[in-house]
Formats: sequence, structure tokens, C-alpha cells
Amino acid sequence: MTIYPKLHESFHICSNPNEVGIDIVMNRITGISDIMNFLDEHGINVIHFDWSGLVNEKLRLFLIVDMTNYKDTPEKMLEQIKSISSTIDEVTLSPVVNGKLIFTRSLFPLVISKSRGIILPVGVAEGMFEVFKEHFGDDMGTSILYHLGYAVGVRFYDRLLKPLEPNSLEELIQLLDAHLISLGIGVMKEYKIQSDEKFWLRVERVWECESLKGKVNKPAGNTFRGMLSGIFEGYLGHRVVVNETECMAIGYDACKFEVVSIK
Ligand SMILES: [Zn+2]
Repeated sequence: MTIYPKLHESFHICSNPNEVGIDIVMNRITGISDIMNFLDEHGINVIHFDWSGLVNEKLRLFLIVDMTNYKDTPEKMLEQIKSISSTIDEVTLSPVVNGKLIFTRSLFPLVISKSRGIILPVGVAEGMFEVFKEHFGDDMGTSILYHLGYAVGVRFYDRLLKPLEPNSLEELIQLLDAHLISLGIGVMKEYKIQSDEKFWLRVERVWECESLKGKVNKPAGNTFRGMLSGIFEGYLGHRVVVNETECMAIGYDACKFEVVSIK
């Protein structure tokens, strides 16, 4: 399957000095095609495009464009965009820092599944694996990561999955699949339900296992395993044990999590 990554960028590092950011406030979503046509007709290349949710019937756009082939100034471009349509309320240049980082203040906060979201690049978040191992030792570090994941899983079920009223374990797993891929946590490859007491999932690209690939000699999905425990216990109403029996961190193509009920 071809991968089409979602670029979640509200900032951009310029690769040439002709790149500028544009913040636009619109009072109707339908005017977007007029803006795109204008940019296309003037040889202005759109590098990035992002938008907000609707608030009081208004939305905000954030575009990064390359003006290399545009004959006029950025100010002139803003003026022209403003005059395209009455659906456009405001057009301004986005702030620039350090001469090369363009960002927007208009797409805050991030909202994921109706709650506020934050984004931590994996290369930054993976620091916690090292700190737990270093300060608490391997076993204690693993246990802390599992319990962190468990606490997240309990809320993940209560706030994201339970409100969607899954009718069966299979439907819960399908809802989990949709959330894992939408949130960038991992990609469910397959699952098998022997009964509500015994089932397994195979998940590709679990973020923590991917970042620990080749650095460990045992399965590494500790927060993910904890998260699954919290989710399935929430749904089933009793304790479960989740074991990771295959892991991409130690050479498998996906991570396999086996879930068994304890009653
Ligand atoms: Zn794993």
C-alpha cells in the first residue's frame, strides 16, 4: 500500500527566500477554489495548505507559497487575494523567525476527536525511554512505561471509544484501528478473536517499538501494551493480561499483542 503521510505542520522551514506564509480569514468555505485558481494563474506554487475548523461560520487558512515566478511583491499578492472574493475577510503575511521559519498563530489549539490534542515528535518523545531505563533500571523502567500506558488506555476507552458505543469486541477493535491510524500511533494489520477472553492483535509501526528498533533485545511496546490493557479492561469490565509476543524492535515485521482475561 502506498503511504500518503499527513503533514501536520503549522510551521515550515524555508528552502528558498521566495517562500512566504499567508494567513487568511474566510467567512465561507466555498471561496477556497477562487484562491487556488488565482495562485495557479499567477504561477504561485502552493507548498503547504492547512485550515482550521469552523468557528462562528468563519475559518482560517494557512498557506505556504513559493513566489519565485510571481512578478510582484508579497504585499501586492495579499491585496489581489483580498479582492478575489467577498468570502475573504482578512489576508496577512504569516510571521517569520530567524529569516527562515514561517509559522501561524491562527491554528491553535489542535483539536483531535473533540478534545484538545498536542503533538510530540517521536524523536523528542523517545527521550523518556532512556530516562526511565537510566534512572530506574530496566525492569522498573518497563513497569513505569506500562503503567503510564495503562493510565492513558483507561481514559482512551472512556473518552474516545466508549462514547461511540461499540456493540461487540470486534467493533471495539475496529474503532481502535480507526483511532490508532488517525492519531499516528500505529497501523492495525490483523486481529483474531477466539473469544472475549482470548484474542490477539498484530500492529505495524507502533511508535515506541519503531523508535527502539535494534536498540533492545526483547519486545519494546510497553506503553502500548499498557494502553491496550486499559482499553480492554474498560470494555470487558474485568482484568486482562496483555503480552507482546512478537515485536518489530527485535526484527519482526509487526508487533503481536496477545490478550487473555483474568477472572
Ligand atoms: Zn513492539
